Amino acid sequence: MSRFDGRVAIVTGAASGIGKEIAHRFAAEGGIPVIADLNLDAANKAAAEIKSKGGDAFAVAMNVADEEQVEKAVGDVISRLGKIDVLVSNAGIQIVKPLVDFPFADWRKLLSIHLDGAFLTTRACLKHMYAANYGRVIYMGSVHSKEASKLKAPYVTAKHGLIGLAKVLAKEGAEHNVTANVVCPGFVRTPLVDKQIPEQARELGISEEQVIKTVMLKDTVDGEFTSTDDVADAVLYFAAAKSNAVTGQSLVVSHGWFMQ
Ligand code: NAD
Repeated sequence: MSRFDGRVAIVTGAASGIGKEIAHRFAAEGGIPVIADLNLDAANKAAAEIKSKGGDAFAVAMNVADEEQVEKAVGDVISRLGKIDVLVSNAGIQIVKPLVDFPFADWRKLLSIHLDGAFLTTRACLKHMYAANYGRVIYMGSVHSKEASKLKAPYVTAKHGLIGLAKVLAKEGAEHNVTANVVCPGFVRTPLVDKQIPEQARELGISEEQVIKTVMLKDTVDGEFTSTDDVADAVLYFAAAKSNAVTGQSLVVSHGWFMQ
């Protein structure tokens, strides 16, 4: 008997990086991850990889910031699998620029993917979770849910906001056995971070190596990046919780970069 036998999890942004690892690990423990991503080709590929390892998975196209697409994709999951046990709201982007001339369009784009996306996917899944009297919702926060960095105004704002959303859902969802928690990773070497390294080097006028050493990993206890596996461990802990005991919480997984 595996922890997630027969469970269905929608994982947004699971065609790449952290979400992809979560989907793999969920499937390895008997669950069926739904790879919900903007990039359907990459999502299909991720689902095929899981199947090639003997797991089950399927892909759906979803822009998490688009109400219609979210509702349709969640409806498709229900038609196909009949339930949603777990939502991992993970899709996200990063845009780094100084606040003084941050373009409004970029601010809105980032907030809409992180915050509208979390809200829309939560609302769409919640109806089915309430009907089933069971649900586990996990938001992908960041150390930036607790701490600030230069150049990341909308990201830091959005990631702090997810903690508020999780706390409200923890209160509203409790009577339906729905828990809500936030996982807050440090820097993880995914395409999202690889793209930022040269951008930060340019904005801060330092080398890429300095960005890694003096910006990203400076305050960790061991000079290590957080791994996708480290993050998946925490997500699956919340996903497997047996009761409402752990809800409305945020767990930092950052090699000690941020301690609370
Ligand atoms: P990634 O770029 O590797 O993957 C992000 C995925 O999200 C991609 O597959 C992309 O297609 C998808 N996506 C983007 N916009 C979308 C949208 N509108 N609708 C649906 N899918 C969309 O990034 P990652 O590093 O794996 O990041 C995943 C999450 O983890 C993000 O929320 C990010 O903020 C968070 N996070 C990342 C790090 C890190 O260091 N990598 C640290 C803390 C938190």
